Amino acid sequence: MAQVVNDAASILAGVYQTRVSQYGATPAKLGSIFVSFPGNNPPTNFQTSDVQNLITGAIEGGALPEPDEETSDVLHCVFMPPGTNPPPNLGGLHTYANYSDYDFPFDFDINDRSHMAWVAFGSKAFISSVFSHEVVEALTDPEGDGIQVNPTNANNWNEIGDVCTSTGLVNGVTVQSYWSQIDKACVIPANIPLSMQITCIHKNPRNDIAHPIRSVGGINRTENVPFRMSQLECIESIDRGNSFFVVGADGSRAEVKVFIHFPPWNRRGIRYIATVEDNSKADNLLSLPEC
Ligand SMILES: [Zn+2]
Repeated sequence: MAQVVNDAASILAGVYQTRVSQYGATPAKLGSIFVSFPGNNPPTNFQTSDVQNLITGAIEGGALPEPDEETSDVLHCVFMPPGTNPPPNLGGLHTYANYSDYDFPFDFDINDRSHMAWVAFGSKAFISSVFSHEVVEALTDPEGDGIQVNPTNANNWNEIGDVCTSTGLVNGVTVQSYWSQIDKACVIPANIPLSMQITCIHKNPRNDIAHPIRSVGGINRTENVPFRMSQLECIESIDRGNSFFVVGADGSRAEVKVFIHFPPWNRRGIRYIATVEDNSKADNLLSLPEC
């Protein structure tokens, strides 16, 4: 699950979406992450309607905002679990569902549209590439009357991801190309990652695991300038494809990655940074001096 979240975060934070603005779309940002309740499993052979029912049920239950309560347009993307099979010949799909609510007399939320997508389970590369495809299409053609590619069709949506098939790596994450009209080509925008050495952290109190690392500091080795940023800014920078690392007293290098945990008291994921476990216990983030 951490891998799926990190790959999705990387796609959304990086330059992959930059070519959708030509179509009047604003690149999507990562929103809230939820894990479904244990036992709340979809049918083995699921249909799009099962996903629509999951989303509208979560809205009804209060876990997700009603469409007219969204502070900005939301795409609810559901990653299907292992052991489930999509409808034939589909790896993913984006669509919408009508949501009706009558919270008389306060709220007349009648037939507002809730936008959603699902991604079938598969390999890491499969999941991230299908996700990238659905995101750029949902941004440019959320309801089938937006940007399509010839031959356009109101029922059989022919969208900017459907006319492209190539995949590529952006920041180590597999994405699918999409049609860029200004380039007259299927494109995968990419960037040049920064190499960031963390040399200090700010955390108080140090030995209380309930208190997160507040900020990190160090040297941007690509541009040879010092940096200081909050943990959230560090997570967003890792999501954009920049690499963060710690060098231990013995000279060994440990990569800093983003992890996620789901506290038992709610089902919302909390993301945090830590070094990838290696043989050396000395070179992790928590052994660095205070900034
Ligand atoms: Zn498509």
